[in-house]
Amino acid sequence: MGCTIAITLLKQFMQVYDFTPVESIDYFCSLLPDIFNEACETVKGVLDVALFELLNSTNNADVICHTLRLCYQDEGQPYCHLFAEPPEGMAKAIRLATAELSVKPKDDPIICEIDGIRDLCEYLDLIDRDKTAKYDSDGDYYSSVANLRGYDWRGKDCSDENGNAYPGRLPDNSDIDYDSNCNGIYGVNPDSGIPYEDELCGDFTNYGIIMIGDSIGAHFHIPPDWVRADVVSADLLKNLTFIAGNELDWPQMSFSTGFINGTWPVVVNSTTNSLYWRMRDRNLCIHRDYQNLAFNGARSATAHEGSVNMTRDDGKDRPAILVYAEFGNDICRSDTGSVDEMTPVDEFTSEVLEYLDYLDTRLPQNSHVILVGLINGTYLYTLMHGHLHPLGELNQDIDYDAWYNWYSCLQIVCPAWTNTNRTEQDLATEHAMELSAALKQIAETADYNRFDVHYLDTPIDEAIALWTGDPSDLIEHVDGLHPSKYAQDLFAQVLWEHIVDEFPEILDPINPNNDKIREIFGDQGGN
Ligand code: CA
Ligand code: CA
Repeated sequence: MGCTIAITLLKQFMQVYDFTPVESIDYFCSLLPDIFNEACETVKGVLDVALFELLNSTNNADVICHTLRLCYQDEGQPYCHLFAEPPEGMAKAIRLATAELSVKPKDDPIICEIDGIRDLCEYLDLIDRDKTAKYDSDGDYYSSVANLRGYDWRGKDCSDENGNAYPGRLPDNSDIDYDSNCNGIYGVNPDSGIPYEDELCGDFTNYGIIMIGDSIGAHFHIPPDWVRADVVSADLLKNLTFIAGNELDWPQMSFSTGFINGTWPVVVNSTTNSLYWRMRDRNLCIHRDYQNLAFNGARSATAHEGSVNMTRDDGKDRPAILVYAEFGNDICRSDTGSVDEMTPVDEFTSEVLEYLDYLDTRLPQNSHVILVGLINGTYLYTLMHGHLHPLGELNQDIDYDAWYNWYSCLQIVCPAWTNTNRTEQDLATEHAMELSAALKQIAETADYNRFDVHYLDTPIDEAIALWTGDPSDLIEHVDGLHPSKYAQDLFAQVLWEHIVDEFPEILDPINPNNDKIREIFGDQGGN
């Protein structure tokens, strides 16, 4: 997949800027920062003459990637192609292209063992290793660095990366109540002699929010301009290393734990809209009390992997509102798109029950769990059909039918829904609805010591009904799969309205001290 996208961009750079193959590759590498640049230069050296010759040919990216042996055909499977198949067929086109090369491409090297790529592999490995903040010298799981599972995911540590508390909040100053919970409210009211934390927050439960889920909960997003050859620039890609360090997720703008309105590094024209922000609006005492433990690819059987590092202790911490939304991977795990390969209802039910049992040992007393139904993936094809993929805008040669057919041939991403077969999509959605019904059933019969359980339907239908813009803008344009920032905002709105309508008792009342908190503590230390 990566090869096809990269070769398509290289060919488009040649077209847009009238580059030779070598100029196009040099330009491509120059767009990339840091270790990505290093890896790009190395790949250029490895592929060398074969790549230059193929870029000069009329072959499309599919044929080039197969000829370079970076794409291959699995036994018994068709050749996967993103572009229209050459008239002579893929196999013959690849044979002809290979015959014309003056230098044969080398057999697959073990890519991460090549100098120049090793650093990138190590970085990606570090990101993938566990779901814990990588800069956290005091080991409390909170970080003052944003990415690498830092405060984009879990409320900012109010000490720096060296473990030093910020000035004014020093724990060794016995005269003040230092900010042990980092909510930006600390010290003692000189008039009453009562700590501000007690005076301004003491009458409230102060629920924080915990998000358990998949790439939708973490808000997976690839900016479309990254794959527009005539638009992409070094400036647009300058934060690539940072963004990769967030697993290509943007939890800081997600429907659950978002806390910024998206002015950096991409402009998103919307205000902060998340369940966390709405809870915080009601009660500023919960400032920074969010944990987004979602991760790409999570499903019912792996939900606990994100929760191992959950920081919430009974007796010590305030209760939490935990949102459990494994939206799609129990469906998407099916490589062929067949329902047989999806999580069966009974297995799903027992995974969720096991997870809730686990939460009953982890969450503080009086917490609340909200189970959210699975997504309806039939919308993907409905909303995207007939639109051009950003990579295909330049030459009008890749629409979402081609894009989804490519996915389903490769058996990646979410073949059950990313295909052009309506019957197959509907069967997948039907199974998703059965799993949602199981969640609802669990909520109705749940009986736990430390929390109660509520169920909410998946917010996608209501989000689509509320949206007045171009319907295709509700879906991420690059992957053609995830809900966009617009959809994320609507998810927050829809879910919030249901919480307020159906079980408002789980929320703190509006804190009448909010104005006083703003007056004394300003923005409470920012994010
Ligand atoms: Ca820390
Ligand atoms: Ca405090």
